[in-house]
Amino acid sequence: MARLAVAAQAWLPTDVPSTRRHILDLLVQATATGGDPIVELRQAISRWFGADAVVMLLPLSPGPERPAAPGGIALEPLAVLRRPTLWPQRPKRLPDELFSSWLWRVSVAAAVLPADFARDVVGAAYDDIDLAIAPETVRRLARLSGQGAEHLAAGTLPARPWATQDTIAGMAEDMMLRHEGLLATRDGPAASGRAKPVLQYCPRCLADDAWPYFRRRWRFAPMVACLVHRCLLHEGCWRCGAPVALLRLRVVSAQPRCVSCDAWLVHAPAIAAEQVVPRQGNLEAMLSYLAARIPAAQRGCHLDRLARRFAPGLSLANRTVVVAKLLPATAREWFGAPEDPRHNASLQMLASGVRHLGPALRRQRRRYHARLAQPGARGS
Ligand SMILES: [Zn+2]
Ligand SMILES: [Zn+2]
Repeated sequence: MARLAVAAQAWLPTDVPSTRRHILDLLVQATATGGDPIVELRQAISRWFGADAVVMLLPLSPGPERPAAPGGIALEPLAVLRRPTLWPQRPKRLPDELFSSWLWRVSVAAAVLPADFARDVVGAAYDDIDLAIAPETVRRLARLSGQGAEHLAAGTLPARPWATQDTIAGMAEDMMLRHEGLLATRDGPAASGRAKPVLQYCPRCLADDAWPYFRRRWRFAPMVACLVHRCLLHEGCWRCGAPVALLRLRVVSAQPRCVSCDAWLVHAPAIAAEQVVPRQGNLEAMLSYLAARIPAAQRGCHLDRLARRFAPGLSLANRTVVVAKLLPATAREWFGAPEDPRHNASLQMLASGVRHLGPALRRQRRRYHARLAQPGARGS
């Protein structure tokens, strides 16, 4: 108990006395079941980061008492206790990265099998960790990896997002999360009763990345193509069709592999998607407009209508057909008419692929044309 108290004093990530007492109680309970939680923590940390990390992360056990010098008093030098506030290897989550992709990259940086690392740091097995991870766990992992909790949480996919997104695209994704139908899923419920998750990828993005990572937007049903590389995404292993499952991988590799046949996902063929790219681009612009310009209470009718087109479990091939049919001429049918008619013209413009200009840009353009119209302007 005393040893646990000393270890807990140095190791626990909080200074709040009641929280410390609570964690210490849990450690004591763990001891009562016959295990030694401190030993287990040491072993887990050395498994993740190598033996040296233990010294840095956990306090040393108190040494044997020194015999008192004749006529003196036994003095125990005070050990300098260090706090385990940071992991030794800690890549940060990239701005548009999916949470599970980041966790997978940390395991690779620590040279630990992703499956073991995920089990050790988040405990329970998740069907869909990006959706189900608890905010408290995200905050703990953020502390250990030295980044803001909101920044890390912005990579997760909860039905009610609690982190602020830095980009309009991120805000549009959060908006879609409130409509479960807009996440890509596979047929049949997983063990949790939820639909099975689908993680798509663009092989050319993976090839271009200095350190391959998975974009958060690749989890959404309307995203069927990469607009940068103008090719179709893949929704599984290009060779055997198995779903992408980064945190079930039993190989340490900076290049994502297939969990079933070990194929490198970066070797997937890039299939041109010229027909669908403009349709998806326009839809993304409309979703961004919806997130940035239309009040939350007026968005539901558009998102419900859109979600009906992407039935749960729809394959990538079928979703591609859906997106290809999002034609400008029928935008009011598949996107709905805005409650406030002032948004009509802008939405129709975006559906046609004309970039929406904000008021500042419009003013700038008017000034430019006014200058051109002045006599002698062209010659000057
Ligand atoms: Zn790409
Ligand atoms: Zn495979």
